[in-house]
Amino acid sequence: MQIVDSRPGCYMLECECARGEQFRAERLTLTVECPHCGRTRLTADLVATWVLRARGGMSADAAD
Ligand SMILES: [Zn+2]
Repeated sequence: MQIVDSRPGCYMLECECARGEQFRAERLTLTVECPHCGRTRLTADLVATWVLRARGGMSADAAD
């Protein structure tokens, strides 16, 4: 599962169970659950990966 887009108030996510089918998650939730397969991930982990990738993996500073 990964964040594919960051929008005001929410994130768009994509799960490996259904490529191309995106779903929404509120920014303030602690965990994200895939509506298709029920898998859960910690939002903070997904955000950290998203931030690192957005910066090209050049920095480990995910303080955003
Ligand atoms: Zn899924």
